[in-house]
Amino acid sequence: PHQSAVWSQLCPSPSRLLGIGIDAPAPQSEAVLKRRNKSFAKPQKNYYAAPPQIERGWKEHLFDVTGRAYLDMVNNVSILGHGNPTLAAAVGRQWSMLNTNSRFHYSVVADFSDRLAALAPEGLDTVFLVNSGSEAVDLAIRLAWAHSGRRNILSLLEAYHGWTVASDAVSTSLADNPQALETRPDWVHPVLSPNTYRGKFRGAGATEGYVAAVAETIAAIDARGDGLAGFIAESVYGNAGGIPLPPGYLQQVYAMVRARGGLCIADEVQVGYGRLGHHFWGFDQQGVVPDIITIAKGMGNGQPLGAVITRREVADSLEREGYFFSSAGGSPVSCIVGMTVLDIMQTEDLQRNARETGDYLKARLEALGQRFPLVGAVHGMGLYLGLEFVRDRETLEPATEETAAICNRLLDLGVIMQPTGDHLNVFKIKPPLCLARESADFFVDTLEKVLSEGW
Ligand code: PLP
Repeated sequence: PHQSAVWSQLCPSPSRLLGIGIDAPAPQSEAVLKRRNKSFAKPQKNYYAAPPQIERGWKEHLFDVTGRAYLDMVNNVSILGHGNPTLAAAVGRQWSMLNTNSRFHYSVVADFSDRLAALAPEGLDTVFLVNSGSEAVDLAIRLAWAHSGRRNILSLLEAYHGWTVASDAVSTSLADNPQALETRPDWVHPVLSPNTYRGKFRGAGATEGYVAAVAETIAAIDARGDGLAGFIAESVYGNAGGIPLPPGYLQQVYAMVRARGGLCIADEVQVGYGRLGHHFWGFDQQGVVPDIITIAKGMGNGQPLGAVITRREVADSLEREGYFFSSAGGSPVSCIVGMTVLDIMQTEDLQRNARETGDYLKARLEALGQRFPLVGAVHGMGLYLGLEFVRDRETLEPATEETAAICNRLLDLGVIMQPTGDHLNVFKIKPPLCLARESADFFVDTLEKVLSEGW
């Protein structure tokens, strides 16, 4: 529907550029749904009355089986954008030359590990390659256990760190898992999440309040006498839409954890790798250096790829607990994907685009907030923004139903968005980092149109 001049300029003919035959007859969408639901275990949570059947993508745009275009504002795994021909060619070359079990020696794994270690702060020079963020978090927890010889891990309430056994245990997001608090194992110690917008402490004194909450939990662990293994957190409060942590929070918490011999894990799966625009790593915002970094999502531009970066002595401690092996983690193709993503990020200066287009987008959304009281706040930075909808700016009553309706209306008008947060009243805005300014405008103009319809 929005085949305006801007759109046809932005994506003149993805099929031609990608060499794909877009003219081939498109499968009927009901038929695709039926086929998918027959054998596919469990489709993800569906937020749409009529989910589109996506068939191909180009930069920040997706196209359904009927050729209809959508602006993809949520796809944080595809940082380069969809259908990148340089990446496709590099994968094809490596695939036809070699892809193998990671037990063998080949040079590309050393090249990629060196590049990741060079991106990390000094001293974090040892890299494990895995296939997903959940695996990276599980491995980080095992490293903290092995290094400290203890089990207790602190994690933030309402966080999400993955679906595997350990990463799920430290994910106490009630929206993702309503039983999270009752079913968590006894080594997980959730602490009050430092949400400075709707949490217990806001404004002046928020840092002290949230740090004191962590100190209380640590004191309870001290009283048990079995010690602390580590602390895991995103360096930006991600689940609620990219709310920055209160100033100095991580510095103080890291100091308390380290004083007890625990390790500090920064989960950068979502916020790291340039998405914040102003910083490459989320923890840079808080002026801290973690002991272990977990990454995934964007580093593979959608291919299964994750990593843990840590110090050599922490990595070596794993030998005492067991051993690490991943059949496909660090395979030649994965490493080529990872290196090509970094090359393209550099040549296209994507972090700068995240900063500049992100700042522009945030300013436009804030202006929208001046006109529509339903917009409670615009959180975040770079291309990691959160738009929080409330019924009342004083009580902050979450506008959950309205958010779902707006999301569906946006889809009708060609924008893919998704509600998130524990009240499902936040749009977490995390498009590919190549987002063009025209696309940012299209998003805000479309949102403005929807909000003008009477919310
Ligand atoms: N950590 C964070 C902060 C995440 O947002 C996610 C995924 O959403 C994960 C870990 C898990 O990553 P994956 O889905 O690749 O297993």
